[in-house]
Amino acid sequence: MDIFRILSRGASLNKKKGITTDYALPSSTQKSAQKHKEETLHHQVEKETDFFHTRKKHTENTQDNKEDNAEDKENEEEEIPPLELVTEEDAHKFRKLHKSKVTGDDIPIPIGSFQDLIGRFQIDKKLLSNLIEAEFIEPTSIQCESIPITLNNRDLIACAPTGSGKTLAFLIPLVQQILQSKPSGTKNYGIRGLIISPTNELAIQIFQTLETLVRGKKLNIAILSKQLANKLNNKIIKSDKYDILVTTPLRLIDIVKQGNINLSKIEQLIIDEADKLFDHGFVEQTDEILTHCTLPTIRKSMFSATIPSGVEELAHSIMKDPIRVIIGHKEAASTTIDQKLVFTGNEQGKLLAIRQMIQQGEFKPPIIIFLQSITRAKALFHELLYDKLNVDVIHAERTPKQREEVIKRFKNGDIWVLITTDVLARGVDFKGVNLVINYDVPQSAQAYVHRIGRTGRGGKSGRAVTFFTKEDDQLIKPIINVMKQSDCHDGYSGWMENMAKLSKNEKKNIKHHEMERKKISTVPKVVKQKRKQRQDMIEASKKRKQMETQQQE
Ligand code: ADP
Ligand code: MG
Repeated sequence: MDIFRILSRGASLNKKKGITTDYALPSSTQKSAQKHKEETLHHQVEKETDFFHTRKKHTENTQDNKEDNAEDKENEEEEIPPLELVTEEDAHKFRKLHKSKVTGDDIPIPIGSFQDLIGRFQIDKKLLSNLIEAEFIEPTSIQCESIPITLNNRDLIACAPTGSGKTLAFLIPLVQQILQSKPSGTKNYGIRGLIISPTNELAIQIFQTLETLVRGKKLNIAILSKQLANKLNNKIIKSDKYDILVTTPLRLIDIVKQGNINLSKIEQLIIDEADKLFDHGFVEQTDEILTHCTLPTIRKSMFSATIPSGVEELAHSIMKDPIRVIIGHKEAASTTIDQKLVFTGNEQGKLLAIRQMIQQGEFKPPIIIFLQSITRAKALFHELLYDKLNVDVIHAERTPKQREEVIKRFKNGDIWVLITTDVLARGVDFKGVNLVINYDVPQSAQAYVHRIGRTGRGGKSGRAVTFFTKEDDQLIKPIINVMKQSDCHDGYSGWMENMAKLSKNEKKNIKHHEMERKKISTVPKVVKQKRKQRQDMIEASKKRKQMETQQQE
């Protein structure tokens, strides 16, 4: 209850409207400066990141707009390719405009619209209408590039920002190819499409998008849930019943080992969040799955927002003449995210910083807060757990059912603040998350990019705030590098840049070792001492009473 008062001091909580501040408002000049800053930022973000091409051009005749219009005109003259891309020249203009780099042999020309798929690839009409019905009207940059690559039967390594539509980039060609390749008249032919994801939450999400795409088609798709795994292992169901399977590696390996699933007919293997699946902790499982996918004509694709060079090398070793697509900067965060570093001095300062954000109206739900460990996530949850803030927590110790339930409630808006660990850092698409707070600095640049990528998705803007203390000096440099790559220079100060630089070995060490931190609490030492004194007095009085009753007896 104490923490409620500390955190919400000066803020009024309105369930429908979210959190609003009712004091410490900026003066009118501060307000207009703030407004101007917000407008400029908003405008910048819009201009740079319209990957869905849905935003209208500004028409107001301000000085800024005049300059922008002049700039746009220049771009138009030089850059804007036709909607239907035919020549290499069109493709070149398109890539320049979309800041994409595509390398490899015989690169197909990107599509300019989903309708291009009719003429060029005879896309299934129902699949196309399912897409349009789900309001996917125009393809994003990564979709424009990767769909024709896969439909031309090529292996693919794709790196594109968080929230830029990678799921459809692999699902559309997968469904199209599986529909085309269905051996006529053969029922229960076997699994031909396999999608691997590092977490169950992400697998569920991919499966749900897949369901939308195959609506009305005779394709059997499945997510490898615990129940399905049991049925397969007990031979109640045969795996050959399914055409496409979505799974996490561990669950699949378990069935593979017992010989209850056949992966030898897989024609398309998709590895989502590939760098995670080739990292420490997953690589052996991924490798084992690969050894069971034995069809000589198998096509492989891997996707992520971060693909370090080591992973790319590995990818090349298991692929045939792949094409590599990079949208924007490799390892940069999505430019729709406004990133900021906040120095909190010490651990206690972090809770106070949250309180300040509430007072300044910056704590606008829905919010996700990331911490480095389950223990710390639980501790912060208990600190923030009070009647009206609607907070909940997801970590690996919660059951899948609990996790599913919390996600549902967060998506519905019943939960405003979701506390979690890196278990939710990858892939999960919560629409409209306003703010991500890194309560603890992430252990690597990749972890940072994925965590903050839970906001600013689908072309929307979002904010990410990372708290750090003096003990985090070694973790800050990689974060600043990401901020620089994403052109987010206002979010840090010069002195932060001068904090420790790390060698490759140190980086590796940090990535795999959790930082030691003081416990999460806002209770000052004096209060703690007083509490202890009171507790001691109570104990002493209890003992005295006990002795007195014993003497009386
Ligand atoms: P990523 O895997 O790149 O992080 P997702 O595939 O999860 O991103 O997509 C992010 C959001 O963008 C999702 O809500 C998705 O529905 C939406 N989206 C994807 N493609 C399109 C599109 N072509 N048009 C409109 N919205 C899209
Ligand atoms: Mg994704």
